[in-house]
Amino acid sequence: MEPSEIYRDTWAEVDLSCISHNLKVIKSRLPAPAEFMAVVKANGYGHGDREIAEIAVQAGADSLAVAYLSEAINLRRQGITAPILILTPIQPQEVPIALKHRFMLTVTNAGWLEQMRAYKSANSRDKLRIHIKFDTGLGRIGLREREEWDAMVPRLKQPDIEVAGIFTHLATAGNVDIGYSKAQAAKFQQMLGWVKESGVKVRQFHCANSAAALRFPEMVLDNVRVGAALYGFYAKEHAPDLQLRPALSLHSRLIHVKRVNKGQYIGYDNSYRAAEDEWIGTVPIGYADGWSQSLQGSEMLVDVQRAPIVGKIGMDQLMIRLPRSYPVNTLVTLIGKQMDEQITCAELAAHLGSVPQEISTSLSSRIPRLYKGHEIVTEMMTPVTSVHFPNYVKKEVKTKTRR
Ligand SMILES: *Cc1c(COP(=O)(O)O)cnc(C)c1O
Repeated sequence: MEPSEIYRDTWAEVDLSCISHNLKVIKSRLPAPAEFMAVVKANGYGHGDREIAEIAVQAGADSLAVAYLSEAINLRRQGITAPILILTPIQPQEVPIALKHRFMLTVTNAGWLEQMRAYKSANSRDKLRIHIKFDTGLGRIGLREREEWDAMVPRLKQPDIEVAGIFTHLATAGNVDIGYSKAQAAKFQQMLGWVKESGVKVRQFHCANSAAALRFPEMVLDNVRVGAALYGFYAKEHAPDLQLRPALSLHSRLIHVKRVNKGQYIGYDNSYRAAEDEWIGTVPIGYADGWSQSLQGSEMLVDVQRAPIVGKIGMDQLMIRLPRSYPVNTLVTLIGKQMDEQITCAELAAHLGSVPQEISTSLSSRIPRLYKGHEIVTEMMTPVTSVHFPNYVKKEVKTKTRR
Protein backbone atom coordinates (compact mmCIF):
# COMPACT_ATOMS: atom_id res chain seq x y z
CA MET A 1 0.00 0.00 0.00
CA GLU A 2 1.26 3.47 -0.86
CA PRO A 3 1.11 6.26 1.72
CA SER A 4 -1.24 8.20 -0.56
CA GLU A 5 -3.72 5.33 -0.46
CA ILE A 6 -4.06 5.29 3.29
CA TYR A 7 -7.17 6.81 4.79
CA ARG A 8 -6.42 5.89 8.34
CA ASP A 9 -4.50 7.57 11.15
CA THR A 10 -3.08 4.26 12.33
CA TRP A 11 -0.60 2.31 10.19
CA ALA A 12 2.08 -0.33 10.44
CA GLU A 13 5.50 0.02 8.86
CA VAL A 14 7.46 -3.01 7.75
CA ASP A 15 11.14 -2.45 7.08
CA LEU A 16 12.05 -5.15 4.58
CA SER A 17 15.77 -4.46 4.98
CA CYS A 18 15.40 -5.86 8.53
CA ILE A 19 14.04 -9.11 7.11
CA SER A 20 16.93 -9.55 4.69
CA HIS A 21 19.40 -8.55 7.41
CA ASN A 22 17.92 -11.06 9.87
CA LEU A 23 17.85 -13.83 7.30
CA LYS A 24 21.47 -13.29 6.32
CA VAL A 25 22.62 -13.10 9.93
CA ILE A 26 20.80 -16.30 10.89
CA LYS A 27 21.95 -18.07 7.75
CA SER A 28 25.56 -17.12 8.37
CA ARG A 29 25.46 -19.13 11.60
CA LEU A 30 24.23 -22.33 9.98
CA PRO A 31 26.55 -25.08 8.79
CA ALA A 32 27.16 -24.52 5.06
CA PRO A 33 24.96 -27.15 3.41
CA ALA A 34 21.84 -26.41 5.50
CA GLU A 35 18.86 -24.94 3.69
CA PHE A 36 16.73 -22.08 4.98
CA MET A 37 12.95 -22.27 4.99
CA ALA A 38 11.29 -18.93 5.70
CA VAL A 39 8.04 -19.38 7.62
CA VAL A 40 5.49 -16.88 6.31
CA LYS A 41 2.27 -18.35 7.75
CA ALA A 42 -0.40 -16.08 9.20
CA ASN A 43 0.28 -13.37 6.65
CA GLY A 44 4.00 -13.44 7.35
CA TYR A 45 3.46 -13.23 11.12
CA GLY A 46 1.29 -10.20 10.39
CA HIS A 47 3.97 -8.46 8.28
CA GLY A 48 2.50 -9.30 4.86
CA ASP A 49 3.05 -12.75 3.37
CA ARG A 50 3.85 -11.80 -0.22
CA GLU A 51 6.22 -9.01 0.74
CA ILE A 52 8.08 -11.19 3.24
CA ALA A 53 8.18 -14.15 0.86
CA GLU A 54 9.68 -11.99 -1.88
CA ILE A 55 12.37 -10.40 0.25
CA ALA A 56 13.18 -13.71 1.96
CA VAL A 57 13.71 -15.51 -1.35
CA GLN A 58 15.78 -12.60 -2.58
CA ALA A 59 17.90 -12.69 0.58
CA GLY A 60 18.61 -16.38 0.21
CA ALA A 61 15.71 -18.46 1.53
CA ASP A 62 15.50 -21.79 -0.30
CA SER A 63 11.83 -22.38 0.42
CA LEU A 64 8.80 -21.06 2.28
CA ALA A 65 6.38 -22.54 4.79
CA VAL A 66 2.78 -21.69 5.57
CA ALA A 67 0.23 -23.30 7.84
CA TYR A 68 -2.66 -23.85 5.44
CA LEU A 69 -3.40 -24.69 1.83
CA SER A 70 -5.37 -21.43 1.53
CA GLU A 71 -2.27 -19.44 2.49
CA ALA A 72 -0.14 -21.30 -0.03
CA ILE A 73 -2.64 -20.72 -2.85
CA ASN A 74 -2.78 -17.07 -1.90
CA LEU A 75 1.00 -16.79 -2.31
CA ARG A 76 0.95 -18.48 -5.72
CA ARG A 77 -1.82 -16.15 -6.84
CA GLN A 78 0.41 -13.26 -5.87
CA GLY A 79 3.21 -14.55 -8.03
CA ILE A 80 5.37 -16.40 -5.52
CA THR A 81 7.08 -19.26 -7.34
CA ALA A 82 9.42 -20.60 -4.62
CA PRO A 83 8.85 -24.06 -3.12
CA ILE A 84 6.22 -23.93 -0.36
CA LEU A 85 5.67 -26.46 2.42
CA ILE A 86 2.20 -26.55 3.98
CA LEU A 87 2.75 -27.40 7.63
CA THR A 88 -0.79 -28.57 8.44
CA PRO A 89 -2.25 -31.65 6.71
CA ILE A 90 -4.66 -30.92 3.87
CA GLN A 91 -7.75 -32.94 2.89
CA PRO A 92 -7.11 -35.86 0.51
CA GLN A 93 -9.53 -34.36 -2.02
CA GLU A 94 -7.37 -31.20 -2.11
CA VAL A 95 -4.40 -33.07 -3.56
CA PRO A 96 -5.10 -32.05 -7.19
CA ILE A 97 -4.86 -28.33 -6.43
CA ALA A 98 -1.73 -28.93 -4.35
CA LEU A 99 -0.18 -30.75 -7.30
CA LYS A 100 -1.18 -28.02 -9.69
CA HIS A 101 0.71 -25.50 -7.57
CA ARG A 102 3.61 -27.86 -6.75
CA PHE A 103 3.12 -27.52 -3.00
CA MET A 104 4.94 -29.76 -0.57
CA LEU A 105 2.54 -31.37 1.86
CA THR A 106 2.75 -32.49 5.47
CA VAL A 107 1.65 -36.09 5.92
CA THR A 108 1.18 -37.82 9.25
CA ASN A 109 -0.38 -41.19 8.51
CA ALA A 110 -0.85 -44.06 6.07
CA GLY A 111 -4.63 -43.57 5.95
CA TRP A 112 -4.21 -40.20 4.26
CA LEU A 113 -1.88 -41.64 1.63
CA GLU A 114 -4.52 -44.29 0.97
CA GLN A 115 -7.43 -41.86 0.77
CA MET A 116 -5.71 -39.40 -1.53
CA ARG A 117 -5.42 -42.16 -4.16
CA ALA A 118 -9.06 -41.54 -4.98
CA TYR A 119 -7.93 -38.13 -6.22
CA LYS A 120 -4.52 -38.95 -7.66
CA SER A 121 -3.96 -41.94 -9.89
CA ALA A 122 -0.77 -43.85 -9.11
CA ASN A 123 0.54 -43.61 -12.66
CA SER A 124 0.06 -39.87 -12.96
CA ARG A 125 3.40 -38.34 -13.73
CA ASP A 126 2.97 -35.53 -11.23
CA LYS A 127 5.12 -36.27 -8.23
CA LEU A 128 3.54 -35.57 -4.89
CA ARG A 129 6.26 -34.05 -2.72
CA ILE A 130 5.65 -34.73 0.94
CA HIS A 131 7.28 -34.08 4.28
CA ILE A 132 6.37 -36.61 6.94
CA LYS A 133 5.76 -35.21 10.39
CA PHE A 134 6.98 -37.12 13.43
CA ASP A 135 5.69 -36.22 16.88
CA THR A 136 8.67 -36.36 19.22
CA GLY A 137 6.96 -34.64 22.13
CA LEU A 138 4.99 -31.55 21.15
CA GLY A 139 1.88 -33.73 21.12
CA ARG A 140 0.25 -31.87 18.25
CA ILE A 141 0.40 -33.75 14.94
CA GLY A 142 2.66 -36.46 13.63
CA LEU A 143 3.28 -40.16 13.95
CA ARG A 144 4.60 -41.45 17.25
CA GLU A 145 4.86 -45.22 16.87
CA ARG A 146 6.98 -47.52 14.77
CA GLU A 147 3.83 -49.32 13.54
CA GLU A 148 2.55 -46.05 12.11
CA TRP A 149 5.77 -45.62 10.16
CA ASP A 150 5.80 -49.24 8.97
CA ALA A 151 2.24 -48.81 7.67
CA MET A 152 3.35 -45.87 5.55
CA VAL A 153 6.47 -47.45 4.03
CA PRO A 154 4.94 -49.32 1.04
CA ARG A 155 2.96 -46.23 0.06
CA LEU A 156 6.07 -44.07 0.28
CA LYS A 157 7.87 -46.30 -2.20
CA GLN A 158 5.33 -45.64 -4.95
CA PRO A 159 7.01 -43.93 -7.91
CA ASP A 160 4.82 -40.81 -7.85
CA ILE A 161 5.65 -40.05 -4.22
CA GLU A 162 8.76 -38.08 -3.29
CA VAL A 163 9.65 -37.95 0.38
CA ALA A 164 11.12 -34.48 0.31
CA GLY A 165 11.51 -34.39 4.05
CA ILE A 166 10.99 -35.88 7.45
CA PHE A 167 10.55 -33.45 10.27
CA THR A 168 9.52 -32.79 13.82
CA HIS A 169 8.77 -29.69 15.87
CA LEU A 170 10.16 -28.81 19.30
CA ALA A 171 7.98 -27.89 22.26
CA THR A 172 10.45 -25.96 24.42
CA ALA A 173 13.19 -24.71 22.09
CA GLY A 174 13.09 -21.23 23.63
CA ASN A 175 13.09 -22.35 27.26
CA VAL A 176 16.00 -21.93 29.64
CA ASP A 177 15.89 -25.65 30.45
CA ILE A 178 17.14 -27.47 27.37
CA GLY A 179 16.47 -30.98 28.69
CA TYR A 180 13.20 -31.56 26.85
CA SER A 181 14.60 -30.31 23.54
CA LYS A 182 17.53 -32.67 23.86
CA ALA A 183 15.11 -35.52 24.61
CA GLN A 184 13.04 -34.66 21.54
CA ALA A 185 16.18 -34.57 19.39
CA ALA A 186 17.18 -37.99 20.73
CA LYS A 187 13.70 -39.36 20.04
CA PHE A 188 13.94 -37.98 16.48
CA GLN A 189 17.29 -39.72 15.95
CA GLN A 190 15.73 -42.98 17.16
CA MET A 191 12.83 -42.55 14.72
CA LEU A 192 15.28 -41.81 11.92
CA GLY A 193 16.63 -45.28 12.62
CA TRP A 194 13.22 -46.66 11.56
CA VAL A 195 13.48 -44.65 8.36
CA LYS A 196 16.96 -45.94 7.57
CA GLU A 197 15.92 -49.55 8.16
CA SER A 198 12.91 -49.17 5.87
CA GLY A 199 15.01 -48.10 2.89
CA VAL A 200 12.72 -45.17 2.07
CA LYS A 201 14.64 -42.47 0.25
CA VAL A 202 14.40 -39.10 2.01
CA ARG A 203 15.80 -35.83 0.65
CA GLN A 204 16.18 -34.03 3.96
CA PHE A 205 15.58 -34.06 7.70
CA HIS A 206 14.66 -31.01 9.73
CA CYS A 207 13.62 -30.16 13.27
CA ALA A 208 14.77 -26.63 14.11
CA ASN A 209 12.54 -23.58 14.46
CA SER A 210 14.09 -20.15 15.15
CA ALA A 211 15.18 -20.77 18.71
CA ALA A 212 16.67 -24.18 17.92
CA ALA A 213 18.46 -22.87 14.81
CA LEU A 214 20.07 -20.15 16.94
CA ARG A 215 20.80 -22.25 20.02
CA PHE A 216 21.44 -25.83 18.97
CA PRO A 217 23.82 -26.20 15.99
CA GLU A 218 23.49 -29.99 16.19
CA MET A 219 19.75 -29.68 15.49
CA VAL A 220 20.17 -27.76 12.25
CA LEU A 221 20.38 -30.99 10.19
CA ASP A 222 19.52 -30.30 6.50
CA ASN A 223 17.10 -27.40 6.84
CA VAL A 224 15.76 -24.89 9.38
CA ARG A 225 12.21 -23.55 9.54
CA VAL A 226 12.62 -19.99 10.72
CA GLY A 227 9.71 -17.72 11.54
CA ALA A 228 10.00 -15.60 14.69
CA ALA A 229 13.69 -14.71 14.35
CA LEU A 230 13.23 -13.67 10.72
CA TYR A 231 10.93 -10.91 11.96
CA GLY A 232 13.35 -9.98 14.74
CA PHE A 233 11.59 -11.82 17.54
CA TYR A 234 14.10 -13.72 19.64
CA ALA A 235 15.29 -13.91 23.22
CA LYS A 236 18.58 -12.00 23.38
CA GLU A 237 19.94 -14.32 26.04
CA HIS A 238 19.86 -17.23 23.54
CA ALA A 239 22.16 -15.44 21.13
CA PRO A 240 23.73 -12.42 22.84
CA ASP A 241 26.08 -11.79 19.92
CA LEU A 242 23.23 -11.58 17.41
CA GLN A 243 21.79 -8.28 16.35
CA LEU A 244 18.44 -9.13 14.84
CA ARG A 245 16.19 -6.22 13.97
CA PRO A 246 12.44 -6.05 14.54
CA ALA A 247 10.92 -5.28 11.15
CA LEU A 248 7.53 -4.09 12.32
CA SER A 249 6.54 -0.79 13.87
CA LEU A 250 3.07 0.59 14.49
CA HIS A 251 2.08 4.23 14.64
CA SER A 252 -0.95 6.41 15.10
CA ARG A 253 -1.84 10.00 15.84
CA LEU A 254 -3.75 11.63 18.63
CA ILE A 255 -7.22 12.41 17.31
CA HIS A 256 -8.51 14.14 20.44
CA VAL A 257 -6.84 15.69 23.49
CA LYS A 258 -8.57 16.99 26.61
CA ARG A 259 -8.11 17.98 30.22
CA VAL A 260 -10.16 15.95 32.70
CA ASN A 261 -10.74 16.75 36.35
CA LYS A 262 -9.83 14.52 39.23
CA GLY A 263 -12.57 11.91 39.74
CA GLN A 264 -13.91 11.95 36.19
CA TYR A 265 -14.38 8.69 34.33
CA ILE A 266 -12.78 7.43 31.15
CA GLY A 267 -13.90 4.49 29.03
CA TYR A 268 -16.67 1.90 28.95
CA ASP A 269 -17.99 0.75 32.31
CA ASN A 270 -16.28 3.72 33.98
CA SER A 271 -13.19 1.55 33.84
CA TYR A 272 -10.79 4.40 34.69
CA ARG A 273 -11.20 7.30 37.09
CA ALA A 274 -8.74 10.18 36.96
CA ALA A 275 -6.64 10.20 40.10
CA GLU A 276 -6.00 13.92 39.64
CA ASP A 277 -6.48 16.55 36.96
CA GLU A 278 -5.01 14.88 33.87
CA TRP A 279 -4.43 15.17 30.12
CA ILE A 280 -6.11 12.40 28.18
CA GLY A 281 -5.46 11.60 24.52
CA THR A 282 -7.57 9.42 22.22
CA VAL A 283 -5.84 7.06 19.79
CA PRO A 284 -7.75 5.53 16.85
CA ILE A 285 -7.02 1.84 17.37
CA GLY A 286 -9.09 -0.77 19.13
CA TYR A 287 -9.66 -4.44 19.66
CA ALA A 288 -11.04 -4.83 16.13
CA ASP A 289 -7.53 -3.90 14.96
CA GLY A 290 -6.04 -6.58 17.18
CA TRP A 291 -5.28 -4.27 20.10
CA SER A 292 -6.78 -6.59 22.70
CA GLN A 293 -8.63 -5.31 25.75
CA SER A 294 -6.01 -7.21 27.73
CA LEU A 295 -3.49 -4.54 26.69
CA GLN A 296 -5.17 -2.05 29.03
CA GLY A 297 -2.39 -0.60 31.19
CA SER A 298 0.33 -1.12 28.58
CA GLU A 299 2.18 1.91 27.25
CA MET A 300 2.74 3.78 23.98
CA LEU A 301 5.24 6.48 23.07
CA VAL A 302 4.25 10.12 22.70
CA ASP A 303 7.00 12.68 22.34
CA VAL A 304 9.56 10.07 23.43
CA GLN A 305 7.68 9.46 26.70
CA ARG A 306 5.61 6.53 27.85
CA ALA A 307 1.85 7.04 28.07
CA PRO A 308 -0.33 4.27 29.57
CA ILE A 309 -3.66 3.09 28.17
CA VAL A 310 -6.36 4.09 30.65
CA GLY A 311 -9.85 2.60 30.71
CA LYS A 312 -11.16 -0.24 28.62
CA ILE A 313 -10.01 -0.48 25.02
CA GLY A 314 -12.92 0.00 22.62
CA MET A 315 -13.45 -1.58 19.24
CA ASP A 316 -11.95 1.40 17.38
CA GLN A 317 -10.45 3.82 19.88
CA LEU A 318 -8.67 3.90 23.19
CA MET A 319 -7.48 6.54 25.63
CA ILE A 320 -4.00 7.21 27.03
CA ARG A 321 -2.83 9.42 29.88
CA LEU A 322 -0.51 12.10 28.53
CA PRO A 323 2.31 13.74 30.46
CA ARG A 324 1.04 17.14 29.28
CA SER A 325 -1.09 18.67 26.57
CA TYR A 326 -0.23 17.79 22.97
CA PRO A 327 -1.72 18.98 19.71
CA VAL A 328 -4.09 16.76 17.80
CA ASN A 329 -2.16 14.74 15.17
CA THR A 330 0.85 14.23 17.42
CA LEU A 331 2.58 10.99 16.48
CA VAL A 332 1.96 8.00 18.77
CA THR A 333 4.23 4.95 18.47
CA LEU A 334 2.61 1.73 19.67
CA ILE A 335 5.38 -0.60 18.51
CA GLY A 336 8.85 0.64 17.71
CA LYS A 337 11.21 3.43 18.59
CA GLN A 338 11.08 7.12 19.29
CA MET A 339 14.68 8.16 19.80
CA ASP A 340 16.00 6.04 22.68
CA GLU A 341 12.60 4.83 23.88
CA GLN A 342 11.29 1.59 22.47
CA ILE A 343 8.16 -0.53 22.79
CA THR A 344 8.69 -4.08 21.57
CA CYS A 345 6.17 -6.77 20.73
CA ALA A 346 7.81 -8.76 23.52
CA GLU A 347 6.94 -6.06 26.06
CA LEU A 348 3.32 -5.99 24.89
CA ALA A 349 3.15 -9.78 24.78
CA ALA A 350 4.20 -9.89 28.42
CA HIS A 351 0.94 -8.07 29.17
CA LEU A 352 -1.00 -10.85 27.52
CA GLY A 353 1.12 -13.64 28.95
CA SER A 354 2.00 -14.51 25.37
CA VAL A 355 4.74 -14.36 22.75
CA PRO A 356 5.69 -11.40 20.47
CA GLN A 357 4.22 -13.04 17.39
CA GLU A 358 0.76 -13.00 18.96
CA ILE A 359 0.95 -9.20 18.90
CA SER A 360 2.05 -8.97 15.26
CA THR A 361 -0.31 -11.68 13.97
CA SER A 362 -3.23 -10.07 15.77
CA LEU A 363 -2.94 -6.83 13.80
CA SER A 364 -6.02 -7.03 11.63
CA SER A 365 -6.39 -6.26 7.93
CA ARG A 366 -7.94 -2.93 8.96
CA ILE A 367 -4.43 -1.68 9.72
CA PRO A 368 -2.64 -0.65 6.52
CA ARG A 369 0.94 -1.85 6.10
CA LEU A 370 3.55 0.43 4.59
CA TYR A 371 6.73 -1.10 3.25
CA LYS A 372 10.16 0.42 3.25
CA GLY A 373 13.71 -0.77 3.10
CA HIS A 374 13.86 -1.70 -0.51
CA GLU A 375 16.02 -0.20 -3.23
CA ILE A 376 13.72 2.01 -5.20
CA VAL A 377 12.61 5.15 -3.42
CA THR A 378 9.29 6.13 -4.96
CA GLU A 379 7.94 8.92 -2.85
CA MET A 380 8.35 10.64 0.43
CA MET A 381 5.41 10.72 2.76
CA THR A 382 4.30 14.25 3.46
CA PRO A 383 4.94 15.11 7.08
CA VAL A 384 1.55 15.44 8.71
CA THR A 385 2.74 16.69 12.05
CA SER A 386 5.94 18.31 13.18
CA VAL A 387 7.36 14.80 13.33
CA HIS A 388 9.39 13.85 10.34
CA PHE A 389 8.47 10.64 8.56
CA PRO A 390 11.01 8.31 7.00
CA ASN A 391 11.31 7.78 3.28
CA TYR A 392 8.90 5.20 2.04
CA VAL A 393 9.94 2.79 -0.55
CA LYS A 394 7.87 0.89 -3.01
CA LYS A 395 7.58 -2.81 -2.27
CA GLU A 396 8.55 -3.78 -5.78
CA VAL A 397 10.71 -6.82 -5.48
CA LYS A 398 11.61 -9.16 -8.29
CA THR A 399 10.97 -12.74 -7.26
CA LYS A 400 13.68 -15.08 -8.31
CA THR A 401 12.30 -17.95 -10.29
CA ARG A 402 13.37 -21.16 -8.67
CA ARG A 403 12.89 -24.49 -10.41
C1 LIG B 1 5.38 -21.90 13.05
C2 LIG B 1 6.28 -23.07 12.85
C3 LIG B 1 7.67 -22.87 12.73
C4 LIG B 1 8.35 -21.54 12.94
O1 LIG B 1 8.60 -21.39 14.32
P1 LIG B 1 9.37 -20.08 14.90
O2 LIG B 1 9.55 -20.39 16.34
O3 LIG B 1 8.46 -18.93 14.65
O4 LIG B 1 10.64 -19.97 14.17
C5 LIG B 1 8.45 -23.97 12.43
N1 LIG B 1 7.91 -25.20 12.29
C6 LIG B 1 6.59 -25.43 12.43
C7 LIG B 1 6.05 -26.81 12.28
C8 LIG B 1 5.73 -24.38 12.74
O5 LIG B 1 4.43 -24.61 12.89
